[in-house]
Amino acid sequence: MKSMMKKSLVIVSVLAVAAGAAQHITDEPVIKKWTEKDNNGKNIEYMTIDGIKVHETDETKQPQPKIVTPGQPSRGDQAGSAPSDAVVLFDGTEESMYKNWTDTKGNRTKWKFVNGAMESVKKAGYIQTKEKFGSCQFHIEWASPSEVKGSGQGRGNSGVFLMGYEIQVLDSYNNKTYPDGQAGAVYGRKKPAVNASRGPGQWQTYDIIFHRPIFDEQGKVVKKGTFTVFHNGVLIHDHYQITGGTSWRGPHSVSEYKPHPDTLPIQLQDHGNPVRFRNIWIRELDD
Ligand code: MG
Repeated sequence: MKSMMKKSLVIVSVLAVAAGAAQHITDEPVIKKWTEKDNNGKNIEYMTIDGIKVHETDETKQPQPKIVTPGQPSRGDQAGSAPSDAVVLFDGTEESMYKNWTDTKGNRTKWKFVNGAMESVKKAGYIQTKEKFGSCQFHIEWASPSEVKGSGQGRGNSGVFLMGYEIQVLDSYNNKTYPDGQAGAVYGRKKPAVNASRGPGQWQTYDIIFHRPIFDEQGKVVKKGTFTVFHNGVLIHDHYQITGGTSWRGPHSVSEYKPHPDTLPIQLQDHGNPVRFRNIWIRELDD
């Protein structure tokens, strides 16, 4: 399944016109065009994209897309379901919570299972997937506490970490904070385009398309990571290129890029507030 979804990256060494010219990675399609005469002598234009003719119907050359049964959308308190080809990371059962998630040391998490949701527990630390992932489509639903406590970063704070890059989870409904730290922000890097938050206690969704950064052997970024994010169905990041890490380095600074493996566990943050999560699934993508 994974291999069918993978498309190989092309690594192109750019001619070293200047000393130190770096490797560049491109996934630009190769387009070829030509003209042939048909039986009536009329010129017909042909075009191939990555070697496949436009409007090709021969399935040996252009296979039909694999059939995926879509999941059901969530409605209020009723959690939705994953598409048929997704890896389900949490389906609302206690079994799937402990089967797929641990603390950061690989031990049983101290987070709580409450009414079909995983709830963060103060001082329990982050929770993370046993399985490791890279580039992906990721769906998660979360709810900040219905009882509003605290303000700014102290209200309903958690976070979704894909390879260590945080999409902030925060109760940002009538709760101002620095914009690059509100709900949906790429923490410290990019504010969401709009604030699509629902009120405290209500279920909210993130649909994230993440392309991991790629590092060369020296640990230098040769392709930056990107985030496309929908918050409650509203686009808040459109193929945003991550300019570095999102870890706290002080009140006005976040971490630089640091090389990491091609896949890592997905983590959810314990920031001291009881935030709940449900209906979590992932589809692995090409880099
Ligand atoms: Mg956070």
